[in-house]
Amino acid sequence: MYFEDQLKLLLSSRHFLIYIFTREEERLENTINKISKNVYLSNIYCWDFIDGFQNNPNYINRAKKNPLSALDIVENSDSSIPSIFILKDFHVFINDIGVVRKIKNLFRKLKNSNIHIIVTSSEVQVPQLLKDIVTVIEFPLPSEEEIIIELNRLFDLVQIINHMKIEDLAIAYKGMSMDLIRRSVTKLIVARKSSKEIFEIISREKQQLIRQTDVLDFYPVNNSLNDIGGLFYLKQWLKKRSNAFSKQARDYGLPAPKGILLVGIQGTGKSLSAKAISNQWNIPLLKLDVGKIFGGIVGESESKMRQVIKMSEEFAPCVLWIDEIDKAFSRTNYSTDSGTTSRVLSSFLTWLSEKTKQVFIVATANHILNLPSEMLRKGRFDEIFFLDLPNCKERYKIFQIHLMKIRPLTWENYDIQYLSESTSNFSGAEIKQSIIEAMHNAFYEKRDFYTQDIVNVINEFIPLSFTDHTNISSLQEWAKSGKVRLAS
Ligand code: ADP
Repeated sequence: MYFEDQLKLLLSSRHFLIYIFTREEERLENTINKISKNVYLSNIYCWDFIDGFQNNPNYINRAKKNPLSALDIVENSDSSIPSIFILKDFHVFINDIGVVRKIKNLFRKLKNSNIHIIVTSSEVQVPQLLKDIVTVIEFPLPSEEEIIIELNRLFDLVQIINHMKIEDLAIAYKGMSMDLIRRSVTKLIVARKSSKEIFEIISREKQQLIRQTDVLDFYPVNNSLNDIGGLFYLKQWLKKRSNAFSKQARDYGLPAPKGILLVGIQGTGKSLSAKAISNQWNIPLLKLDVGKIFGGIVGESESKMRQVIKMSEEFAPCVLWIDEIDKAFSRTNYSTDSGTTSRVLSSFLTWLSEKTKQVFIVATANHILNLPSEMLRKGRFDEIFFLDLPNCKERYKIFQIHLMKIRPLTWENYDIQYLSESTSNFSGAEIKQSIIEAMHNAFYEKRDFYTQDIVNVINEFIPLSFTDHTNISSLQEWAKSGKVRLAS
C-alpha cells in the first residue's frame, strides 16, 4: 500500500497515536498537509522542542522546551474539530514515564475524537508501555515516479535542455532523500557535465550514503560476463535474465529473480561473477560485510541486518553481494552466541523467500560443510551453483582473457594451449597470479615476458588444490549429489 493511502486509512479509522519513521521531515510535513487539505480538512499543529508550537496563531510558540505542556495543549484543544498534532523528534521524550502516563491518559480521553498525534522520528524507539496504543509506519524515500516529477520541475525551472533521459536519472537517484536529490541536481546543472560524468557523480554521492551504514559498501564495477572464462551454464543463466528487472518483464508478469548462491573452490571466479552480474544487468552492486553484522552490543546484529535489508531495498534494483556467507553463518557460531546468529540468519532467510523488491542476492561460499542446511533448502535461492576448478578448455579461455587484456596486440604469440595443458588443478585466480608473477620476473630483467616465463612460474607453483585437498573433495562430492547446478 502506498504511504498516503496507509496514512489516510489510519486517520479515518481513528488511530490516535501514529509514529512515523522518517529521515525527511519536511517532505513528510508536506505530505500530511496535502492529505489533510484534500481529505480531512483538519487543523495541523507542529511542535518541536526549541520553537514550541507553530502553524497556528492560537498556540504560536507555546510549550517551548516542554513536551508535557505540549501534550496539555493537545488535551485542552477542542476535540470536536479535526486536528493533527505533529510532534517532531518526540521519540526522545516518549520514553519518559511522565510522558508515557500522560499519553495513556490522553488516549482514554481522546481515542474516539477527531484528534490525532503524529510523532515523527528518525529512530524507532517505542516504549513497551505504549505498544498497544501506537501504530508505527515508515515514510518511504521518494519513488521513481516522485523523483521524475521533481526532476521535471527542476529542469523546467532552469529551462535546461537536458541531454539525458529523466527516467534514467530518476533510477540513478533512487535511494536518496528528496533534499539530497535537489542539492545534487542543482550542483549538476551549474557544472554542466556530460551524462557519463553525471552518473559517476551520483554514484559517488550514493557511495557516501551507503558507507555511513558501516556494513554495506557501494562497489564500482567494470567486469563483464566476457571477462569470465568457462562457467558456461552460470553465464547462460545470467544472460537469460539480463532484462528480468525491466518494466517489460514486470508487465509480462515475471517475478523478479531472488538470488543465487555460488559455492566453490577459492579463486574460481565467484566474486568476479557477482561483479559481472551487476555490469551485465546494469544495476548497482552493494557489498555486504557480514562479519561486521556480528559483534557489538546485544541486539545490534539484528538491527544491523534490518538496516541492510532496508537500505538495499531503497536502492533497488540492485545486486547485493554477500561474500563468504559460510564464514558468518558457520554452524560453529551457533553454539557460542546465545542465538544471535540463528536469529539474524532466520530474518535473512525470511527476507530472501518473501522479498518482492528488486534486490538480487549473490552469496558466495568456499565451504559447504559450514553452511546451515536451511540456507540450501529449495525456495530460498533461485539456484545454487557449484564452481569447480576449470578444465583444460576453460583454462585456455582464462589464459586468453588475461593475456588479451595485458597484451592486446601480441597475445597470440603465447602458447596458450601448452599453458592450459600444464595447469591442471589451477584455479582461475592462480592462472592470473602465474601470469603476473612471470611479468614481474621479466620486468625485473627489463624485457617483455614470454610463454617460458609463465611455464617457469607454473613449474614452481603449488596450487591450493594440493594443500586444501579435504575441502575440495568434500565440495566435489557434494556437487555430485544432484542438489546443485554445475556452473560449467
Ligand atoms: P573467488 O571469489 O571464487 O574466490 P575471484 O572471483 O575472487 O574468486 O577470483 C580472483 C581473480 O581471479 C578474479 O578477479 C579474476 O581475475 C581471476 N579469475 C578467477 N576465475 C576466473 C575465471 N573463471 N575467468 C577469468 N578470470 C578468473
